[in-house]
Amino acid sequence: MSAGFPLSRTDRPVPESERARILAEPVFGSHFTDHMASAAWTAQDGWHDRRIRPLEPFSLHPGTAVLHYAQEIFEGLKAYRHADGSVWLFRPEANARRFARSARRLALPELPAADFLAGVEGLIRADESWVPPSDGERSLYLRPFMFAADPFLGLRPATQVVYAVIATPSGSYYSHGITLWVSDRYTRAARGGTGAAKCGANYAAGLAAEIDAREHGCDQVLYLDSEGEGTLEESGTMNLCLVTSGGELITPALGTILDGVTRDSVLTLAAGFGLAPVERTVTLDELRRGAADGTITEVFAVGTAVVVTPVVAFKGEGYEFVIGDGTPGKQTTTMRKHLLDIQHGRAEDSFGWMRRVL
Ligand SMILES: *Cc1c(COP(=O)(O)O)cnc(C)c1O
Repeated sequence: MSAGFPLSRTDRPVPESERARILAEPVFGSHFTDHMASAAWTAQDGWHDRRIRPLEPFSLHPGTAVLHYAQEIFEGLKAYRHADGSVWLFRPEANARRFARSARRLALPELPAADFLAGVEGLIRADESWVPPSDGERSLYLRPFMFAADPFLGLRPATQVVYAVIATPSGSYYSHGITLWVSDRYTRAARGGTGAAKCGANYAAGLAAEIDAREHGCDQVLYLDSEGEGTLEESGTMNLCLVTSGGELITPALGTILDGVTRDSVLTLAAGFGLAPVERTVTLDELRRGAADGTITEVFAVGTAVVVTPVVAFKGEGYEFVIGDGTPGKQTTTMRKHLLDIQHGRAEDSFGWMRRVL
């Protein structure tokens, strides 16, 4: 039982054999668990109607604000099963804090951290059988989100809001090194914009760049700053890290990029791998020169979905270059394994990042 989010169980769960088939080889985001968490907010009554209930479609008036003005934010975190059968979250308090920051930026009400956690944990308890067995990299991905539900076309901060959490089993995202398309046509975020908020609108605006990337044979986009200064920002869903021959782990400073939980975790873990964590501005020129003269030895992308993923090459309009010998680097592979080991309970949780749910 989760305090504040009472459970009403579905009487039509996905049959066990079907669930086993889905969990055997999860395809991220294409299958959902039996239940969802939800809560409602109104300007008058604040947060209320907290529930864990059968997964079902929303019924929305065609004039609902989110459908017109994209007033929506979300989060992403994973539940991991450990070898003893227990189930854990990785730094969920950081996601709760970021959700509140995103809410402020999008003029949505802040959800108290206790409610964020109770919704997520209540859903995991209701759908425990959907947390994949302990092995390798499988997990249950949780997607908390919030949107403006006013059936009103005038532009104003929401007076009716829905918070919900859904869950989808997740396997390994990228198993190989990826190539990034350096977009000189699109940017992701401008100073004063919504780059630091985890909002759906940022993703909608990035899809045209993703199409460009795919047309150029790349896996994802790398965005540069919007002021034309040629500095590295991030990928559409992942933060970027560079390893130097001088033993630094460099990542672009915060501001217009997303403050990733994985980014922060990797910066914290760096010292244990003999790397000095550095947050600063990095230019594309510096990256190209460093790749050419060997002072930038490895590049990787980080995020909850992809964990730590090697970036082995970059392409842009009229140029391309590889990092190192074009294969995943040693620090990248070690970092990826160590983070996964902490999350899956195979390495000591020295920083107190894991939170037990079951
Ligand atoms: C979610 C997200 C990330 C990764 O953040 P994590 O907290 O590590 O999952 C990076 N960039 C963007 C744009 C994101 O939306």
